[in-house]
Amino acid sequence: MEAALHHRQYDVVVIGGGCAGIAAAAGAARNGARTLLVEAGPSVGGELLSGMTIDGAINARGEWIVGGVLNDLIAELEKMNGYVGAFNDWRLIRYICFDPVVMQIAVMNVLRRYGVDVLLHTAMENVVLDGGGRATGVVLRNKRGRTVVEAAAFVDCSGDGDLCAMAGSPFELGSPEGELQPVSLIFRMSGVETRPLLAFVREHPDNVAIGESEVIRGGRTDEEIVEELYKQGQPTVFFKGNGPLLARAIESGEMYPTALIMIQPTSTPRKEVCVNSTRVARIDAMNTEALSGTMGELFDQIDTCVRFLRNHVPGFGQAHLSAIAPRIGIRETRRIVGDYVLTGDDVGSARKFADGVAKGCHHIDIHQDGTKQVRIPIANGGSYDIPFRSLIPLTLKNVLVAGRCLSADRPAQGTARVMGSCLAMGQAAGTAAAMYGAAGVDDMRRLDTNLLRARLKEQGAVLDGTY
Ligand SMILES: Cc1cc2nc3c(=O)[nH]c(=O)nc-3n(C[C@H](O)[C@H](O)[C@H](O)COP(=O)(O)OP(=O)(O)OC[C@H]3O[C@@H](n4cnc5c(N)ncnc54)[C@H](O)[C@@H]3O)c2cc1C
Repeated sequence: MEAALHHRQYDVVVIGGGCAGIAAAAGAARNGARTLLVEAGPSVGGELLSGMTIDGAINARGEWIVGGVLNDLIAELEKMNGYVGAFNDWRLIRYICFDPVVMQIAVMNVLRRYGVDVLLHTAMENVVLDGGGRATGVVLRNKRGRTVVEAAAFVDCSGDGDLCAMAGSPFELGSPEGELQPVSLIFRMSGVETRPLLAFVREHPDNVAIGESEVIRGGRTDEEIVEELYKQGQPTVFFKGNGPLLARAIESGEMYPTALIMIQPTSTPRKEVCVNSTRVARIDAMNTEALSGTMGELFDQIDTCVRFLRNHVPGFGQAHLSAIAPRIGIRETRRIVGDYVLTGDDVGSARKFADGVAKGCHHIDIHQDGTKQVRIPIANGGSYDIPFRSLIPLTLKNVLVAGRCLSADRPAQGTARVMGSCLAMGQAAGTAAAMYGAAGVDDMRRLDTNLLRARLKEQGAVLDGTY
């Protein structure tokens, strides 16, 4: 028998507890809104818990272009010795490395500090609309049954744009041909010796992707770049699919077709690295049966990659598999169409906007089938703005969207999807949602974006003064 329908009331409800969602909830609660963060899975933090680095927060010039909630997380990591540092990959980017185990606690500490209510194991299954472009509530489903939660404003950080799509908002999916980026399962290996790994890279620079951004290259030869990598002393290595080591292994069947084996540090005491390499293409990750069906193949690929690294890459001889990400990583599903659709040209040319409320700087990064990947650096190693209008779904008045389902074309989503920009957009959307409720306006479009920008800057966001 169906349990009775429960009712709850908040100022702001955030759907989805990935990078964007935690920042949105923290941003809303910090600005006085009674805030509920709803997450379908068993934990909050999303890909922050996998072991991957935070990209898109430091541009190729070395300027920090994201602050705010990111700074809160780093401060928590530092208290618990979980911050490894910010490093140059000597390829295209600078990224932030940390221990993902400690990050679980850091995320929860930040949410608790700002007073966010977190509801795990709960899926949003519907939205209640007033007929005039406003959501009045969301219908949540968990073991307790169904609950309608009403709020003044909602932030869709579901990655898939579920709330907006259920509210009838237009969206786009993949390329015109229906191509979507592959799904991947991230894993970690501990007991990795950095020096032999870097010495191998120094001897065989043709195996690794380096100096793809002129700003990172800075006029150096490949030999000089791998020397810098060696001196940096961190296992920040990107074995490319078309380098001799990996290409031979793919050709012989010892490795599956892949564009990369990317290795990044997670914990110095455990000598642990994160490995990003596995992939299954041609999957719509919103098709749960299809997504679940990739799990066996992804596990096989992990086993294959671990053997390959142990057998062929110095430094991995005594290493072992130490962790697998808590869920399959999804790069691309819906892109919600908003008041402004951020374009590949905007991001590639590092365009700034008067209503910029977040920034991004990651290269356009579109993984494709097999060994292919598009990687296009941002002009002059700079950063682009994400305008507030790209967070406002076209047909809705009190709903914002943030994270990888923002309003962007496919190339722009290919950069703004990374965690640095998701944290920044999330904070902006959550802060705006709180200000919307407090201001008593009837449409997000009536919020004064100068006031929003000023509030975000007061609370640590970086919006001006970078290249
Ligand atoms: C394999 C892989 C490698 C990557 N590498 C990097 C990297 O090295 N550095 C980097 O910065 N970025 C990287 N990225 C990109 C980045 O991690 C993600 O794009 C980013 O974390 C997306 O955050 P999000 O909050 O927008 O979405 P998500 O992380 O997808 O979070 C959405 C959340 O919403 C929840 N949810 C969905 N629907 C509902 C619903 N109906 N009800 C309730 N909850 C719901 C989901 O359970 C999920 O937790 C990578 C991505 C992948 C997949």
